[in-house]
Amino acid sequence: MSGASATPVGVADPARPWRLGVLGWPVAHSRSPAMQNAALDALGLGHWRYQALPVPEEEVTGTIDALAAAGFAGANVTIPHKHAALAAADVATPAARAIGAANTLSVLADGTLEADNTDAPGLIDALAAPVAGRTALVLGAGGSARACAWALREAGCARVAVWNRTAARARELADDLAIDAAAGAAPADLLVNCTSVGLHDPAETFDLLPLRPVDLEGFPTVVDLVYRPGGTPLLEAAAAAGARTVDGLAILVAQGARSLERWTGRRAPRDVMDRAARSAVG
Ligand code: NAP
Repeated sequence: MSGASATPVGVADPARPWRLGVLGWPVAHSRSPAMQNAALDALGLGHWRYQALPVPEEEVTGTIDALAAAGFAGANVTIPHKHAALAAADVATPAARAIGAANTLSVLADGTLEADNTDAPGLIDALAAPVAGRTALVLGAGGSARACAWALREAGCARVAVWNRTAARARELADDLAIDAAAGAAPADLLVNCTSVGLHDPAETFDLLPLRPVDLEGFPTVVDLVYRPGGTPLLEAAAAAGARTVDGLAILVAQGARSLERWTGRRAPRDVMDRAARSAVG
């Protein structure tokens, strides 16, 4: 697998009715179709359409291989297919290679399939404030934690530490990225929740994470990748503690905007995407 630079098919020929989508399993809950179709309409690309693509693990490589022939200009990739997407692509960006996972596939005009990871720059975009020289604590050691920790390190954080329920996974991630593994939640400029805690049973949040609401006073900025109607207890407590908060929908919009810009070569209408994603959540 080598680096990537060729032009995406959608940029080369925007008049064609390209298909886009999000590959996942399950994926029916995804807000990306509402968000991306609103953006395509706003860009005058209403003849392009973006759809949810529910694909079980045993079919993902075959589906990815068939994207170009089925008229797709690209696709987002979500749980549990981000590693398979990287492996199935012909070329990969440095971010996707370093993180070891891809959330964006683009069909290029030379016939190759490119893998990229926009979760990482999406976090930095959504923060909308410099992180160079700051300290960060990332909760979790799964795919999104790896992308966020890598992004923060690359953006020049002075210290990135990672905590995880399964400590051995935090240690492995820390060793891979040359960052620190944390046993608890020591204060930092930035707290990023990359666990799925808060998604299914919000009431359990502070039983499952290594901090209490009062500890959030030690984190001036708090990001929660989890999003759900009504918000999350982590961000609610962070706001009450006086922190600046960034929610999971802001992260979803930021990564999706980067993907759309790669497929279309156009500046993504982030305000339109944000409104569509938030109204889709209800
Ligand atoms: P993943 O690879 O499956 O990782 C899940 C992480 O959550 C692991 O670190 C896991 O710890 C931890 N975890 C799960 N249940 C836990 C519990 N009961 N107590 C403590 N820790 C627990 O998932 P991912 O792709 O990183 O995604 C994580 C979350 O971020 C998901 O909720 C996903 O929806 C969200 N997300 C949002 C966006 C967005 O655009 N807003 C993008 C990506 C992901 P162990 O290692 O101990 O199992």
